[in-house]
Amino acid sequence: MGKANNYDDYIDSRHSSKPCLGYCMLIFSALALSVGFLFLILFIGLDDKAKVKETPSAMYQKVRQLAKVGQSDHNKISKKNPVAILMYHYIREVEDKTSDELGYSLSVSPTEFEKQMNYLSKNDFDVITFKQFLQGEIGERAVILTFDDGYEDFYTSARPILEKYQFPATVYMITSRIDQGGYLTKNEIKKLSDNPLFSIGSHSATHPNFFTASQENQIKEIIQSQTSIRDITGAKPADFCFPSGQYSPDSLKILAQYNFKTAVTTEERLAFFSDNHLALPRVRVQGSLGLDGFVEKLSDFFKSYEASATSPGI
Ligand SMILES: [Zn+2]
Repeated sequence: MGKANNYDDYIDSRHSSKPCLGYCMLIFSALALSVGFLFLILFIGLDDKAKVKETPSAMYQKVRQLAKVGQSDHNKISKKNPVAILMYHYIREVEDKTSDELGYSLSVSPTEFEKQMNYLSKNDFDVITFKQFLQGEIGERAVILTFDDGYEDFYTSARPILEKYQFPATVYMITSRIDQGGYLTKNEIKKLSDNPLFSIGSHSATHPNFFTASQENQIKEIIQSQTSIRDITGAKPADFCFPSGQYSPDSLKILAQYNFKTAVTTEERLAFFSDNHLALPRVRVQGSLGLDGFVEKLSDFFKSYEASATSPGI
């Protein structure tokens, strides 16, 4: 023990202040370098995360592209693919269909709506935005979801289901009805527009007939609705929906003049990139369809396109 103590003393005596300083400096430098590297790695990592956070739509795009990997001959993105622009109104239960026939035909129950979205998800439909459509990023069996009038049940009933499936959608607001019973509130519109899945379009200010309305009145309706939406969301809407699907050639010129990029009608067929983007047709989803009717209607439209696309075309 005594020897060992002496040895320890001897070792200790060799560790005089000078060599200790050298060792300490070495250790300190190594530590400083490691900490520096750690900060560098952390910084790059955080920076990447911040970039993704800034552009959630880019993240959505990536997920969409990744989802396509492994589906070799399926869901090829092409400008030539048709799109079913689905037209919904209310997502709500209607108790008595006989007393309110119109209300019934415009209403899809939340349960049926969930089944329809589940069907789209399970069957590899490509649910896209108008922006993607305008860029020609159209997968096979593409769908755009649209909701007319701006009913509050979009926020309470449709939104949670769309968020579950991560399906984007456009809501066309009649801006004079904002904050009125049964319609979206300013607060809800703001929350929707802050979510990259949802986009707020214009459905005019007071829902007049654009086929019979004067040019002045059409301009007034468009400016009013644009301003109301911009005041809430901070951006002018790019997508328009003609009230009851009515429009004149003047309407298209006015929409272009006021920088609208798309407008939808009630003409029923699949839409194509080659169509006039300011008079796009849609596919109506009536309340009476149910899941079977929905599946049948959608597959009939796509089948008739596939048949015409593969026909010799004499
Ligand atoms: Zn409407």
